[in-house]
Order: sequence, then structure tokens, then C-alpha cells
Amino acid sequence: MLLSDLQTGDEGVVVRVSGHGHFRKRIIEMGFIKGVKVQSILNAPLNDPIKYRIMNFEVSLRRADASKVEIVTLQEAKEWERQKTVGSGEGKGLWGDQPPLPADDKRSAVDRLVENKTHTINVALVGNPNCGKTSIFNIAAHAHERVGNYSGVTVDEKVGTFQHGGYTFNLVDLPGTYSLSAYSPEELYVRKHIIEKNPDIILNVVDGSNLQRNLYLTTQLIDMDITMVMALNMYDELQRSGDRLDIGQLSTLLGMPIVPTTGRSGDGIDRLFDKIIEVYEGRDTTTRHIHVNHGRELERCIKQLRTELYEHGFSDSLSTRFLAIKLLENDKQLEQYTNQRDPDGSVIKMRDQIADKFKKEIGRRLVDKDISKGHQVTVEEEPQDIESAITDAKYAFVRGALAECYTKNEKSTLHKHTDRIDAIVTHRWLGYPVFLIFMFITFYCTFALGAYPMDWIDALFGWLGELVTDNMAEGPLRSLLADGIIAGVGSVIVFLPNILILYLFISFMEDSGYMARAAFIMDKLMHKMGLHGKSFIPMIMGFGCNVPAIMATRTIEDRKSRLLTMLVIPMMSCSARIPVYVILVSAFFSKYAALVLTGLYLLGMIMAVLMAKLFSRFVVKGDSLPFVMELPPYRMPTAKAVLRHTWEKGKEYLKKMGTIILAASIIVWALSYFPTNADRKVQAENSYMAKIGKTIEPAMKPCGFDWKQSVSLLSGVFAKEVVASTMTVVYATSSEEAEELEDFEAEENGSRISQLIQQNMTPLSAASMLLFILLYMPCLSTIIAIKNESGKWKWAFFTMAYTIGLAWIASTLLFQIGSLLL
Ligand code: GDP
Ligand code: MG
Repeated sequence: MLLSDLQTGDEGVVVRVSGHGHFRKRIIEMGFIKGVKVQSILNAPLNDPIKYRIMNFEVSLRRADASKVEIVTLQEAKEWERQKTVGSGEGKGLWGDQPPLPADDKRSAVDRLVENKTHTINVALVGNPNCGKTSIFNIAAHAHERVGNYSGVTVDEKVGTFQHGGYTFNLVDLPGTYSLSAYSPEELYVRKHIIEKNPDIILNVVDGSNLQRNLYLTTQLIDMDITMVMALNMYDELQRSGDRLDIGQLSTLLGMPIVPTTGRSGDGIDRLFDKIIEVYEGRDTTTRHIHVNHGRELERCIKQLRTELYEHGFSDSLSTRFLAIKLLENDKQLEQYTNQRDPDGSVIKMRDQIADKFKKEIGRRLVDKDISKGHQVTVEEEPQDIESAITDAKYAFVRGALAECYTKNEKSTLHKHTDRIDAIVTHRWLGYPVFLIFMFITFYCTFALGAYPMDWIDALFGWLGELVTDNMAEGPLRSLLADGIIAGVGSVIVFLPNILILYLFISFMEDSGYMARAAFIMDKLMHKMGLHGKSFIPMIMGFGCNVPAIMATRTIEDRKSRLLTMLVIPMMSCSARIPVYVILVSAFFSKYAALVLTGLYLLGMIMAVLMAKLFSRFVVKGDSLPFVMELPPYRMPTAKAVLRHTWEKGKEYLKKMGTIILAASIIVWALSYFPTNADRKVQAENSYMAKIGKTIEPAMKPCGFDWKQSVSLLSGVFAKEVVASTMTVVYATSSEEAEELEDFEAEENGSRISQLIQQNMTPLSAASMLLFILLYMPCLSTIIAIKNESGKWKWAFFTMAYTIGLAWIASTLLFQIGSLLL
């Protein structure tokens, strides 16, 4: 608990002191060091300040200060021991994995809890996008988070807990950022995490093959005055390039230990965490607080503002130097924070004066000086403002540091292949056919190769069904098993191979870096639609599953493009729709299967683009801003990463089978089996399912759907696969056709469900249903994802409404025009 929560008269033992700079130092100097006992002895009338006894003398602390000291009390320790014994069966207590206590441990419960808490290190991974943070996180925490060779793969924080060197690590993987200003949601997010969660150590991951840009973020972290360790990642690439880096020297210059790592293979990661322990325990000798020197003029401005901040008592939770620099950079969020704590606004007033003066006097001089030295070729009329002067100074610092310890190998062949491949795939004309070929190969393999294992699984479930039918007595139980569970789940599980193959291709394209190129060549086209090139990656991801695709829109900095992309992602045909497509296509259009399927996917994309254009004109107002898209070097993905990525998806799919699909199959079976009736033909027409179906049938009639198709579509609201299982169950339980099938089966004329569908539908109504499934409302998880990402229910409802409306209109047109023509 916090020291400020300690009741008068009670005792506790100090575990750690958070807070900042001078403030923290002062508290530690008073004697609040880990392992020391404190007692609360007197509360002032308003509970502030509080008097404590520590090491036999008395000190008084303000409540706010006391809340920065974490302690452990006897009561907490006892509760902890109790939890541990309760949870020891699984080896997991309230505080995570614990090694069993040695029998001769004579220490008190409090000592043990203090030891446990002080042996827990909270580490946050901070670095540029695509520098390998998640790779390191996965290896250290044995996790399977997504990695991908383009920026913005990790969109929210992921926490992993593991043991290393006798310590428990809580490792947090944060989204990648280039800087810590408040421009994008990611930047704000990372900054907030560092300030509010106060991790013990910031693990700054740096891409060794791109030092200059990566170290810019490091300089901002240094301003924050936090304890850091640097992972010099992509060390394999740095070595291969032939560039030379004096790591010891850089480490001294930056005042933090640097450990070379290769996130892909895991080299250096053990040493990295050994180093973190050393730093945490204060044993590391390179760690020191340095100031990034911004040059004399700027430093004077910073110091002036900092003094003002100090006098206003800003020193407790944030480095005043960081705050001063950010305020000079015109950071709106921190300006607000400052104004809250300084209502008369004198700090901001001073900031404005300093910035003004800088621009008038020094900014102009800097420009002049540059001209005189002949550096600046184009002379800007406007004198430099303090914000850009700070950025320049930081880059100057990085360049200076690198000049001392880094020599680039001019003859480096690293990433040469990247240029060669890019010459083709991002070529003005060639780029598009290459992309189309990739897409075609992807879908061809998904459906053509997937057909083989699909047949095996289909046969397996057919056999299972027969086994049940042959060996059980006629009755509800047999029907539940054969027509409900086996038919329902089986009808969906056969698509596992297709889905795995699709994900294999998507993972490969993401991991190799091709996806970023695809986004690049689509940029121009996307702009015309009010979208952005970056919208393209989430859209392609939508082919897998709409939910992560919608989350991935976070990388789109521009609000308007982000929202538009979210709204049209449901048009991208997700893999859950595959089962229904294939069932319908193989029943009616098996000769043109590839053509029809490709057509459906393309139609979805075209609709997405049209809708985006429409919405950007009439629904989502505002201009979209251009921004830079990065093209990371190609990296051969590790087979392990691609396979794991694919398998994770497969596992999710199987999990869905065991939960949503199983439950839906049982519910749908029950609704179509009851109320029971001896006459099966009559029964199907009277079931609850039929009642629901017939209620909505009139509305669906224009699209050409009867009640069976209508309820199937309705059930798809939970998950799209359910449409397939519902159709199977509804047809399997309904009427005499099921009986007649026995005769058909001998003829080996397509699968059982195909025949049922052929008897119940026409090619035209099947085509209309395919169209409806492509366009209508996405599953509930997607709707919720849209609500969460857009922040408003309004957009979730809007998506539901427009997709259903669009599907209805399109299917009705198709069916009615088709009926007239045929
Ligand atoms: P994040 O965006 O910082 O989380 O980066 P990721 O962990 O997603 O990795 C980005 C890309 O770099 C992936 O393709 C990884 O396979 C690759 N990668 C990560 N670490 C290394 C490394 O040390 N060496 C090389 N060559 N590639 C790496
Ligand atoms: Mg990541």
C-alpha cells in the first residue's frame, strides 16, 4: 500500500519510492530506503501533513509526498502468505509465479513480502515502430504477440510476466513512436504510460541499422530523467553492414548501458535482462543522468522556464527539464496540465515571453549564422522558432554523438536487395500487376490447395455422423448429436485448412515487408477515395478477420481517413464468410468456383472504395492530411514467426468452434427440432425456428429468400460461420429430404449439404444470398470494435444500418432483375 494510507499507530516497511528528481532524492535522504521500517505517529487536523517515525527520528511529510512511497504492512504480508498457500497448487499466487519457500526460511512474512516486491522489476519497451520491440517481448516473455515488418503492428500495451535471474519481470510492450510529442495517439499513449505507471526501467529498443532516427527518441527519453537501458537491436544487420560502432563509447556519451541484441534469434536477450537487474540494483556504473545539450541559447531558455516551474512546485511527478522543453515546444497537452496546477497562468505567460524573444532575437541570428557559414542554401524569410530549434539541436546532439563512435561502411551491401526488389514491386506500371498476381496466388492457394484437406475433414465428419445415426436409437439425443452438433460444427470446421492457408500468405506478406509496398502503390488510388495508403494494410487484414483490421486503423494518423477506413472494412470479406461462400458456390456454381469467389472478393473491395468515396463526401467531414509512409527494408520472415502467427489464428478459429459455433449449433438445432412432432415434414414447418424465420420472411422476400435462408442470415450476426452451420442444421432437421438423401448418396453427387441446398434453392437465390452475405452487417465483435476505436456508438450503429441497407438493396436488385431475365 502507499505510505499515505497507513493508519495512525500502524507500521510498515518501505518497498520503493517513486516520484522524481530532487523530490525523490530528498525523500530518500530522509531515510525512506527499501527495507526500512516506518510508523505513522500523528495526523495533522486535516490529515496533512503526517508525522512518521523512521530510524528512530521523526519526520513530517505532506500527504501528496507520502503517496509516492510504497510500503508493506504485516497485515498485507499475512494475506499474501495465505493467498500463496491457497494458490500453491497451481504455483500461482496473487503476485504471480513464485518458487516454493524453503522449509528453513525463518524470516518473517513481512520480510518475505518485501523481498518479493523489491525483486519485481517493471520494465516498459519504448522505441521506434518496427525496431523489434515485440520480437524481444515475445522471446523474453515467451509470448506470441504479432510482429510484422511495417510500422504500427502493436496498437495497445501488452503485458508479460516472467522470471529471470531470481527476479520477477513485468514487461510491457508499447506501440512504436518516433518522438514523444503529442501529435499521434501512440505518442500520447507511450508518454502517459511512462509518466503515470512509472516503470522502474525503460528499455529503449533501438534499430541498430538506423541509428540516427532512433536516437532522436532516446534524447527525448533522456529529458524525462528516467532510468534506462538500451537494447541495440538488429545487431545482426549492423554487423553485416560492416558499419563500425563503439558501443562502450556511445554508452558513456548517453549515460546508459547498451546491450546488443538480435530480436529475431534471441541473441543477447539474456544479457539484456541481466543488465536490467544490475541497473535496478544500482550496480551499473555507466548509468548517470546526462543533459542533452541544446546549445547555449536554448539551454538558457530552458533553465529560465525550469526555475519558474520549480518555484511553482512542479518537481514531484515530472522532470521539470522535460516539462520546460515540452512547453517551449508548444505541447498542448502539457500546457493544459501546467495550467491546472498553476491557475493564474504565470508559467505559460513566461513561456510565451521566452519563445517570443527567442524568435525575435536568437532565431533570426541562428539563420543568419547559417548563411554566413554557407550551410544554408535556401534562406527562409521567417526566423526559426524555438520549437524547431529544439528539434534541430537534438538532431545535432545525435549527429555529434555518432560522429565520435560510429563509422558507416560506404560500400555496405546491406539492404541492396531491397532496392532491387523495390525497383519492380513499386514500379509505376509493374507494381499493380505484381500486386494482382500476389493476390491471385493467395486466393488460388487458399481455395484450390485447401480443397484437399477439406475433403478429408468432410469425410471424417460424415463418417462420425453415420456412426451416430447407425448406433443410436431414433430420438432427440441422436438428432442433437448428428443433425445439431456434428453437422453444425462439422460444416464450419472443414474450412480450417482454407483459413490457415490464407493466414499463411497474409503473415508472409506482412512479415517480409511487402505489405508496406502494397500500401505504397495504392496510396494515390486511396487518396482519390478519401482514404490513405495506410488504409490499405488494415483493409487487406480484413480478409483475415475484421476485428484486428479495425484495431490496425490506429496507425492512420489522420482522423478522417481513420474513421472512413473503419467504416468500410466490413466490406472486406473476412475468412468467417468462407464457409458460406463455399457451401453455396459448390452447390450451384462449382464449374466457375474460382471465378465466382474472386469476383466476390473484388466486389467487396470495389464496394469499400465506393462507400469510402460516398462517406467522405457526405458523412465524415473535414480534410485529410498527407503523411509519410515508411518502407522498411525487406526481411526474410522466420519460418517460426510465420507459422506461429498462422497457428495462433487457427487456434482462435478452433476455439470459436468449441464456443460460439457449438452453442449456436445447439440453439439452432433446438429451435428447429422443437416443439416435437412425430411427422417430420410438419415439424420443420412448425418449429420455433420456422416461426422466427417466417416472421422476417416478408422483409426478405424481395431478395429471394425463404424462411430457412432468412434465419440462417439472422444467426450470422453472432459470427459469420454460424450462417453455414445454421443452414446445415436447418436443412438436416427439416422434412423428408434428409431421408431421400440416402439414395442420393450412392451416386456420389457432391456432399450431403450441397444436395440439400440444391433442392431448396435456385441458382439465382443462391447468388443473391452470396451477395447479401458479402455486404450485410458484420458480426457483433466487429461492431463493438468499431465502437471502441471510433469512441462513439454512433459509428457502430451507422455501420450496421448502412451495411444491412446496402445488402438488401443489392440482393433485391439482383434477384428481381434476374427473375425478369431468366
Ligand atoms: P516492433 O514494431 O518494434 O514491435 O517490431 P517487430 O518486433 O514487430 O519487428 C519488426 C520486424 O523486424 C519483423 O519483421 C522482425 O522479424 C524483424 N526483426 C526484429 N528483430 C530483429 C533483429 O534483431 N534482426 C533482424 N534482422 N530482424 C529483426
Ligand atoms: Mg510491436
